[in-house]
Amino acid sequence: MSKVDTVERPVNFIRNIIDDDLASHKHTQIQTRFPPEPNGYLHIGHAKSICLNFGLAQDYNGLCNLRFDDTNPAKEDLEYVDSIKADVAWLGFEWSGNPRYSSDYFEQFYRYAVELIEKGLAYVCFLNAEETRQYRGTLKEPGQNSPYRDTAVAENLALFAKMRAGGFKEGECVLRAKIDMASSFMCMRDPTLYRVRFEHHHQTGDAWCIYPMYDFAHCISDAIEDITHSLCTLEFQDNRRLYDWVLDNLNDFNKPDRPHQYEFSRLNLEYTVMSKRKLHQLVADKLVSGWDDPRMPTISGLRRRGYTPASLRDFAERIGISKVDSVTEMNILEAAIRDDLNVNAPRSMAVLNPLKVVIENYPNSQPESIQAPVHPQNEAMGKREIFFGRELYIDRADFEMVAPDAKFQRLALDKEIRLRNSYIIKALRVEHDAQGQISTVYCSYDHDTLGKNPADGRKVKGVIHFVEASHALPAEFRLYDRLFSVANPGKSDDFESVMNPDSLVIQHGFIEPGLVNSLPEQAYQFEREGYFCRDNQAGSAQIYNRTVALRDTWGA
Ligand code: ATP
Ligand code: MG
Repeated sequence: MSKVDTVERPVNFIRNIIDDDLASHKHTQIQTRFPPEPNGYLHIGHAKSICLNFGLAQDYNGLCNLRFDDTNPAKEDLEYVDSIKADVAWLGFEWSGNPRYSSDYFEQFYRYAVELIEKGLAYVCFLNAEETRQYRGTLKEPGQNSPYRDTAVAENLALFAKMRAGGFKEGECVLRAKIDMASSFMCMRDPTLYRVRFEHHHQTGDAWCIYPMYDFAHCISDAIEDITHSLCTLEFQDNRRLYDWVLDNLNDFNKPDRPHQYEFSRLNLEYTVMSKRKLHQLVADKLVSGWDDPRMPTISGLRRRGYTPASLRDFAERIGISKVDSVTEMNILEAAIRDDLNVNAPRSMAVLNPLKVVIENYPNSQPESIQAPVHPQNEAMGKREIFFGRELYIDRADFEMVAPDAKFQRLALDKEIRLRNSYIIKALRVEHDAQGQISTVYCSYDHDTLGKNPADGRKVKGVIHFVEASHALPAEFRLYDRLFSVANPGKSDDFESVMNPDSLVIQHGFIEPGLVNSLPEQAYQFEREGYFCRDNQAGSAQIYNRTVALRDTWGA
């Protein structure tokens, strides 16, 4: 059984809270949500949040909603909505009912804003952006009340209605909560609840010209959906006061089983960036081929690279959930995919940098068929057909004219080596091309060594991979490395200066004929070379992305 299936459910502080809430009957069913803003593609950090929210719902027999937090139409797009749905489903999770949209609740948000105004807890403010900043104060200095703070309720109601009706220009006024301009939490100094934006919205069209702020819309959306545990990342810790303030001041929601917000630390991964703004920049500046470039930390990029849903879920389990800020090492992600593919990936042979070998004493003009195991440790995966014949390809790196020492386990003149799944061969002489490069290695083979040791008891050390030339399929190999050459590229605003110039190396070589109809994203271990999968954007072309090398090379 694969390791991914045997991981035990970890204890974490959120599970403890849920256990307590169920024990005290505060809640009888757990309801979580994953609330992406559709302003970019999801990344591996979102995968952490998805696995947490959907995973908790699964483990506690609860439900998890997919909710598009679409309150900022200027940056949002249907392309992102579609990609987010596809990524969550690909990760193996099912949302409860239809996807929700915060925009479904625009009319309710509006009514709740009116309720706050009626209670004297919100007002329309005409300070401009600069004045608002000055009035807000600083971390050390309290703010000052806006001159519009004490406008009468009836007038505020009229002004807010006029905002909705398009009676004010963008930036002319906002609706603010009336909380406390001296609060030590900046987010409580009369935060903005609504602003004017004459923007077309991907769900509501031109129905609205005022849009609610995240802090107002999110808690109410949670409450409308009967979310029990609203999980978000630590940067929203202070905003929890505002979350509670809004719900506590609305009659519909001021009750013990209303949602509560809990914060956990976000995933930071070394050698990459995770902020959507920065990922956007990589795409827009064409520093990568798109959101699904296999070097991107996006879910679609990792998928195209060959990561499996099980490996990403396993990764999320391994990193766990806490409140401690940290940077996760890349080798934890890579270990998760290696552990999956080591068990599950069929084996195959591919020659990435080919050198021709001619077996001079091979008697037949036709190659012979050989049955090789699909997986050396798992007979149940069956056999595959490979070929051996007079002309073969091996990798250039597997041949030296002279073996440097006795430990050398590859091919050299006068030295014997086993070809994987096949015979022992010995190199006799070479031929060079016009540039002086070795073009062919002439060898002999021992016809009595197929699947067995030499009869005379001589020892042959070293096994190299090969493909038979007449059946070999030409293929392109894309070898990926870290996208950035520094551990924390997020610090730099000039991406180009810290990008790894060798993050993509393309090679052309040959694969086994059995891969002719290999499926996109299906993983193979190309023996001695790494884990690869067929590119999911290459159509009929034989293009393989290297998911990960066989061993950890990051620490080296
Ligand atoms: P960014 O700041 O990069 O734009 P975001 O947090 O605004 O990301 P959202 O679409 O709002 O992106 O995120 C949806 C959910 O995913 C939120 O609950 C958010 O907390 C969570 N999330 C985002 N990034 C990470 C991360 N790196 N690790 C864990 N959870 C994350
Ligand atoms: Mg966000």
